[in-house]
Amino acid sequence: MSEAQNRGLMIVISGPSGTGKGTVIRELKKRLDFGFSVSHTTREKRDGEVDGVSYHFVTREEFEKLVQDGKMLETTVYNQNYYGTSYAAVEGVVSAGQDIVLDIEVEGGANVRKACPEAVEIFLLPPSLAELEKRLRGRGTDAEDVIQRRLETARRELLCAESYDYIVVNHSVEQAADEIAHIIDSVKQRSAFRGWMAQALLEGQEI
Ligand code: ADP
Ligand code: 5GP
Repeated sequence: MSEAQNRGLMIVISGPSGTGKGTVIRELKKRLDFGFSVSHTTREKRDGEVDGVSYHFVTREEFEKLVQDGKMLETTVYNQNYYGTSYAAVEGVVSAGQDIVLDIEVEGGANVRKACPEAVEIFLLPPSLAELEKRLRGRGTDAEDVIQRRLETARRELLCAESYDYIVVNHSVEQAADEIAHIIDSVKQRSAFRGWMAQALLEGQEI
């Protein structure tokens, strides 16, 4: 297998805040082995979040320095805070042949699509806007004004769903994780990932 064939798959998961991306990604972990891209953010740490695991929590100055130094694959401003994926967060994982999941919003999704066309992009939808609001409130992590801004942003984000490769509706966590696991399996059956197999057979190898 060549080095390119041996690289892990980049899997982008986007969807409005509160849809259930983090929850579904945790469920997916029970089904598949993958690394998670730990983003940088300038937003406040929520209760229960761990620096270096949930996010790298940094100051605006630290974030701007990372951008100036060319360390970021993609960045965005979301709800008045910077968020971004560093090259370091993904490169070590995919070059070691492990798949990586990126939980990023739609501008980041569009930038990854340009920078890494081989990435597979999945948009997670809530079953309804009422349910989205219920989930955002139920999470209990955001003040009312933050919830309102996230709901406004959600309406704009939903317009980007069609630019994604796949759309999954998060009715239940298990069903959404099953569907995403299925998508990842079938992407890996594409000839782009398996073209080497026929040649390997001709060379007398077992695959
Ligand atoms: P996101 O990462 O998209 O912002 P979270 O994973 O934090 O969303 O989920 C938001 C809230 O919705 C959490 O309280 C979570 O437990 C809940 N949730 C996620 N998926 C479902 C689901 N399928 N049904 C009901 N509640 C869900
Ligand atoms: P939250 O504040 O709820 O953790 O995240 C807010 C939004 O930022 C979510 O839509 C999440 O997917 C997105 N996000 C998290 N990390 C990144 C990142 O590195 N880049 C981009 N573009 N979006 C991110």
